[in-house]
Amino acid sequence: MEPTKPSKVHLPDDLGLAVAAQVIAQGGTVAVPTETVYGLAARADQDEAVAGIYRAKGRPDFNPLIVHVPDVTAAQTYALFDDRAKALAQAFWPGPLTMVLPRRKDAALAAAVSAGLPTVALRCPAHLAMRALLLRCGLPLAAPSANRSGGVSPTCAAHVMDSLGNRVDLILDGGETERGLESTIVGLRDDGTWALLRPGPLTETDIAGVLGAGSSAVYSARIEAPGQLASHYAPGKPVRLNVTEAREGEFLIGFGAVVGQVSLSGTGDLAQAAARLYACLHLAAAAPERLIAVAPVPDEGIGSAINDRLQRAAAEPQSGS
Ligand code: AMP
Ligand code: MG
Repeated sequence: MEPTKPSKVHLPDDLGLAVAAQVIAQGGTVAVPTETVYGLAARADQDEAVAGIYRAKGRPDFNPLIVHVPDVTAAQTYALFDDRAKALAQAFWPGPLTMVLPRRKDAALAAAVSAGLPTVALRCPAHLAMRALLLRCGLPLAAPSANRSGGVSPTCAAHVMDSLGNRVDLILDGGETERGLESTIVGLRDDGTWALLRPGPLTETDIAGVLGAGSSAVYSARIEAPGQLASHYAPGKPVRLNVTEAREGEFLIGFGAVVGQVSLSGTGDLAQAAARLYACLHLAAAAPERLIAVAPVPDEGIGSAINDRLQRAAAEPQSGS
């Protein structure tokens, strides 16, 4: 009888977390659910482990990674926190907020994790599986989305399996992710201004509510958020946006009154649309139709983060994505 291969997929229960923590300690990669999307985690303090993430994703090495920590105390060992950073952490951590802050010179992090930049991106996630993994490892975890670079982000374990199945050491299956869109990224600059580097589940209004009026929120130049390439989240087929009626050969993703083969939200609920966006793009990618069309989504609240991802999904592919 052939020996059965140990399964790569575990529940995030005691056994699954123990195996995952061992894989991480040894420098391997673990796909793990967070409240945003599934992350591909590796220890952030070792160059070899971090290199494993870039290799598995096929990610260009100029695109830095987010470092996940269990709490603000751990975060402060890696970056300099001014009053604004402390206030944002107090308001939104644990949660879907990433802050780009000055990297401490004595930070015990691999150089590759921030791609040689003087800043580091930090997040304290809320999902119980990710939190449990962080606490068990006692290590900072670098974790970009668990998909091949440029592809659609995963919101369930099956998406990870399809995209990275033979490239990841272990998958923790915690079901579908709640928010469905990557974290909001805020850059806090030395001159007192701040920038929304990536829209996400926390809106610009949420951030401004803490940092106060007069803060400048501008979408940053590429140099500041090197991962924000025009073409990203690509489902592998042409995508047409703001469509109310599908043309021949199009798979229509509906929203509200616009009914398609699937819908982001039949009731026009933006939070539900965010949670379903990537699952709908995965379905559209797997459908027999050659083309994808998407209904208009209002550009308010989290709708602006949805539209940001849709525009990147629709952009022409370019090198480096
Ligand atoms: P993801 O692959 O979804 O985890 O995306 C991580 C995002 O964080 C990318 O857009 C990166 O460019 C951005 N990022 C990470 N570190 C930094 C940093 N030090 N400065 C600016 N952006 C960063
Ligand atoms: Mg990603």
